Amino acid sequence: MPTVDAHDTRQLLESMVAELDRSVATLRPEPSDPDDHGTPGDADAGLELADNARSTAVVEAAEEQLKHVRAALARLDEGKYGRCVDCGTELPQDRLEAKPEAARCMSCQAKAESAR
Ligand SMILES: [Zn+2]
Repeated sequence: MPTVDAHDTRQLLESMVAELDRSVATLRPEPSDPDDHGTPGDADAGLELADNARSTAVVEAAEEQLKHVRAALARLDEGKYGRCVDCGTELPQDRLEAKPEAARCMSCQAKAESAR
C-alpha cells in the first residue's frame, strides 16, 4: 500500500491548482492593443515589453506546473499516485513532500529532462 494519504494529498493538490489558477489569472499579460506598436527608441515601450516577457515566462511556468498538478490528481483517481510514471518505482515520501506533483523518480526525471 502506498504510504501517502490520498485524502490529504488530494486536498494539497487541489489547493495547489487553486493557487496556480489564481496566479495565472493575475499574471497573464493584458492582450496588447494591436494598434499600439510603440516606436523604436521609446523607452516606455521597451520597459513594457520586458515586463510582459517576464510575466509571460512566469505564467508559462505556472501553467506548466498546473498541468503536472492536474496530472497528479488524475493519477490519484486512478490509484497510481506516488509511483514513477516511467518505471513504476514508489516515489520516496520526501520527494512527494517537496514536490507533490512529481510524476517520476529522480533518475527518470533526469532522463526525461535531458531528452527534451
Ligand atoms: Zn522512474
